[in-house]
Amino acid sequence: MSDNNFILVDEEDKEEENRQADGGPGEDAGSGGKEAAEVSVPDSGEDEKDDGYEKICFICHRPESVTGKMIDLPNNITVCPDCMQKSFDAMTSGSVDLSRLMNMPGVQFFNMADLENMQPKPQKIKKKKEKPKEFHQLDIRNIPAPHKIKAKLDEYVVGQEYAKKAMSVAVYNHYKRVATDTMDDIEIEKSNMLMIGPTGSGKTYLVKTLARLLDVPLAITDATSLTEAGYIGDDIESVVSKLLAAADNDVEKAEQGIIFIDEIDKIAKKHNSNQRDVSGESVQQGMLKLLEGSDVEVPVGANSKNAMVPLTTVNTKNILFICGGAFPDLEDIIRERLQKKTSMGFNAELKDRYEHDNDLLAKVTVEDLRKFGMIPEFLGRLPIIFTLRPLDKDMMVQILREPKNAILKQYQKLLALDEVRLEFDDGALEAIAEKAMEKDTGARALRAIIEEFMLDIMYEIPKDDSIGEVVITREYIQGTGGPVIRLRGQEVPRIG
Ligand code: ADP
Repeated sequence: MSDNNFILVDEEDKEEENRQADGGPGEDAGSGGKEAAEVSVPDSGEDEKDDGYEKICFICHRPESVTGKMIDLPNNITVCPDCMQKSFDAMTSGSVDLSRLMNMPGVQFFNMADLENMQPKPQKIKKKKEKPKEFHQLDIRNIPAPHKIKAKLDEYVVGQEYAKKAMSVAVYNHYKRVATDTMDDIEIEKSNMLMIGPTGSGKTYLVKTLARLLDVPLAITDATSLTEAGYIGDDIESVVSKLLAAADNDVEKAEQGIIFIDEIDKIAKKHNSNQRDVSGESVQQGMLKLLEGSDVEVPVGANSKNAMVPLTTVNTKNILFICGGAFPDLEDIIRERLQKKTSMGFNAELKDRYEHDNDLLAKVTVEDLRKFGMIPEFLGRLPIIFTLRPLDKDMMVQILREPKNAILKQYQKLLALDEVRLEFDDGALEAIAEKAMEKDTGARALRAIIEEFMLDIMYEIPKDDSIGEVVITREYIQGTGGPVIRLRGQEVPRIG
């Protein structure tokens, strides 16, 4: 080997490296990098200036914010301490026959001669701006009392009083347990939850709001995409890997996060099926360990395990699992049970009552869910079970108007930037709610409806500088009239 060919072969450095190598093979790569930094030709003074850009490693292409301080080499080349250390190790350990290594595919060393000839591209990328965390309002290390958690949820989520209460208490207990870590001596049960409620009633929204308020990472997944390991689809542990990604690969943060598994009713055991049920029951079985708390090996920075991806271990003991589902036909099971009870007496009128009970879902028991197809072990690991009510017209109107980030407020803010006041009269809100009720997809329909007619408004209004106010009316929503347009300082008749 010709020493001149490589940049890392200063005799002094070799000695330095040998001294380090004596310390054992498990040496921290970072310290080697520091030593190596002394070999480099620093770009004097440039490091001190923060121009919003950061350096990237010539070999692994990771930015400086990830790798730690870069080592500057001639020709504007920067290398991270890890890659520098690897190059050192390969050359100084003696176990590698460098002459053969050079011919192996995928093995890279710098060759000074190459560096001379090339015109390196600027090795810098734009730094990511730290996002301000304006939403973080509750501290999980000093978890506020349940009524305070609920009060925060109230600002965003309309109605669903029972669900908000149940959730606040469960979250309070959960994070208290996490903070004190009493699970080892006195077993406090995990507060995993099962939410039952129709589509668009706010299940996902509640969980998202909670995670944002608490500033914990959240992974949302769909139970239908999960399969037992070995089948096509995401294996069950992939939810933990999603959570790790949501926590910016910070294992400690991920271990305090929330995993929301939607459409959990879709993995119910199939009725009248003699075949082995790969999609339902076995997925429930597969989730048991996860729900309870176990060590899971997950790939870092990727969603599948393979030889090239480093693995890390995440313990799910403190991860809060929330499962949600619409559970269609569950009402029939509940009604049947209740009616059976009353038919034993002679009160036919009571039996009738359950036919028209709107709040039947709230009377659900674990037994009903078992009948639906959830296995007892699975239900046993979701001790907090609560239901959400279908949204009625009044709630829809409230959703439009009241939450902190209500859709109407968003549009009002947008138009206010053009100095136009946007108003919706009560009739308009009711008409929107009525339309949404027809669609049967809960509050999800609201945005679609509003977007449809706001498109015209948002297109037309900025055309005319003289418009000062727009009032959306019931007639406009129903397609029988137009909005009221008022010019700045004067009123004009309706258009459209
Ligand atoms: P699902 O119950 O099917 O998970 P989502 O939570 O996704 O329904 O609800 C869809 C959207 O409807 C949410 O993004 C949210 O904007 C709105 N929404 C639903 N329920 C409520 C509610 N109770 N309060 C405020 N907004 C709601």
